[in-house]
Amino acid sequence: MLSQELAMKDSNSGSVIGRIHSIESFGSVDGPGIRFVIFTQGCHMRCQFCHNPDTWNVDGGEERTADDLVKQALRYKAYWGKDGGITVSGGEPLLQMDFLLELFKKAKAKGVHTTLDTSGNPFTREEPFFSKFKELMEVTDLVMLDIKQIYEDKHKILTGWSNSNILDMAEYLSETGESVWIRHVLVPGGSDDDEQLIELDKFIKTLKNVDRVEVLPYHSLGTFKWEELGIDYPLKDVLPPSKERIENANKLLHTEDYKGYLSK
Ligand code: SF4
Repeated sequence: MLSQELAMKDSNSGSVIGRIHSIESFGSVDGPGIRFVIFTQGCHMRCQFCHNPDTWNVDGGEERTADDLVKQALRYKAYWGKDGGITVSGGEPLLQMDFLLELFKKAKAKGVHTTLDTSGNPFTREEPFFSKFKELMEVTDLVMLDIKQIYEDKHKILTGWSNSNILDMAEYLSETGESVWIRHVLVPGGSDDDEQLIELDKFIKTLKNVDRVEVLPYHSLGTFKWEELGIDYPLKDVLPPSKERIENANKLLHTEDYKGYLSK
């Protein structure tokens, strides 16, 4: 399904409607500072380690207008300090481009810092997506982009999809100078081997705009959701990475070298 197909308008307010999975009023791990985090519904990827498979269905979630969500978020503005703001995560927010555009435009009009947390899976330089994406970047202060595997064949195994357009998105954001945090989920046997980490590090070093690199250790806390949905959990025998492997990943990805954050 194309992102445009998901765009609907509220007949009363004319505001674009998004499909929302859930809200976190005081998020502290999805961007700088304390943030109002909106988790959108719908994702085409099928990451083996996904702890939110209940966000996958593009027809699920609660219908909310951008107006209404910005109004709700602004109630928490006093807690944001100078760094906080609104993060849209998922699911995959870029599947609801029209909604996202309206939400971020309205947030920026109120002086709110905007962060997009994305897998990059819908990214393409083809139209109509690309023009809308460029417009979106004008009202986005920070992109948190997941690179789940640097090797395409292994990425396909881990997520069901190629990573070529995701790496292209990283390169596009580097060309335009958008602030970016790269996040890497460390999955034992899936994305934690040294060769992969070294290659990923090399790729990240080619980018000019990376303010932070984060290693997110795999955990199995979402396994029960797979069971509830009646889907076989592919990583049931995989344990979270050890402290040593997490340290090793941080070392190979040189995460200590990326501690800056430049807001626009
Ligand atoms: S991109 Fe995120 S929401 Fe989608 S399957 Fe992967 S981990 Fe789950």
